[in-house]
Amino acid sequence: MDSGHMFKLLYSLLLLLFLATPGLADVELAPKGKPPLRLSDIYLSQGLPYIAVDDMLDAVSLRGHWDSVKHVYRIRTARGWAELSPGRQSLKIGKVFFPLKEKPRFIDGRLRVSENFLLSQLSMLIERPVYYRNLNPVRVEQGGDDSTLDRLFSFLLRKKHMVSGPRLRAVAIDAGHGGLDTGVIAADGYKEKQATLDLASDLSKILKMNLGIPIYLSRDDDYELTPEQRIEPVTHEDVDAWLLLHAQGSFSSDAEGVALFVRSPEDKIADNRHDASRRLAEELALSLAEVGIPVVGIFSSPLIQLGQGDLPTVLIELGYLTNPTDLQRLRSPEGQKLLARALYLGLDNFSKKRKKD
Ligand SMILES: [Zn+2]
Repeated sequence: MDSGHMFKLLYSLLLLLFLATPGLADVELAPKGKPPLRLSDIYLSQGLPYIAVDDMLDAVSLRGHWDSVKHVYRIRTARGWAELSPGRQSLKIGKVFFPLKEKPRFIDGRLRVSENFLLSQLSMLIERPVYYRNLNPVRVEQGGDDSTLDRLFSFLLRKKHMVSGPRLRAVAIDAGHGGLDTGVIAADGYKEKQATLDLASDLSKILKMNLGIPIYLSRDDDYELTPEQRIEPVTHEDVDAWLLLHAQGSFSSDAEGVALFVRSPEDKIADNRHDASRRLAEELALSLAEVGIPVVGIFSSPLIQLGQGDLPTVLIELGYLTNPTDLQRLRSPEGQKLLARALYLGLDNFSKKRKKD
């Protein structure tokens, strides 16, 4: 075999390998309960599948089209138009912007969204749960934010020998988002990052006044945080509870109330019945209900922000910026004080009951 022949053989082998790559990433998609559609035109970018918007809409029986004048993809939904744009890291529904983890991208001539869109935002468009499965999950080792954050969490949050003193020694509070990362934006321009900052500061004051304990905040003004800065407050030795504050948006203006998230039971080392995060969430829910604030429920979530380990941790979605009552509560000083007071009472009750364990 001469070298020219060998080169040709190698070349055709490489070509074959290259051509075979797109087929490796089939996914299944459907509204939950319906037979799923198998999609094969999937593009992997750093291990993350990108699905063509046309294919995605077909699979959930929605219609849409590319508006080449406005440079947006318009999607017709039961409640009006939604818009995606390759230049914008958000989904616009009516007048409300919902942040996306990744910008939509034109790849191979088609506008595509990452699988995170299918997992997080698509159910909002069809107003029902989504079934999504990646048939060939690709494990790619990468040093992205999430894996860094994951490593930090696993390192920092293993407080196996929690001091059970009579009271909480200190509380860490994370005001979600900040700076360019605005979070959800209400129709009137009010931003989630402002709601979380206001509440963090109110709650911090009321806790210091009534319990006289140190409160560690991730931020005390409007700026963006690195993942390391985000969890810095939890690195203090005396932190006995961690609250992460957020607010959400919904397609429906009827959706209202506070939702509480704790780690998924799969991540738990401890017996679920003694899960401190869940008990903290229950106390917070009770106090919120007591002051008349509707509570949607307590949910287990594999959210990366919730980290790992035994530190009692609750992520609180303080309300919907898309609901008039919630919005009024979130942006008015009286409403913020009421929310802060309820969260303080919940923390205090959690602490009082904890010492009996
Ligand atoms: Zn948020």
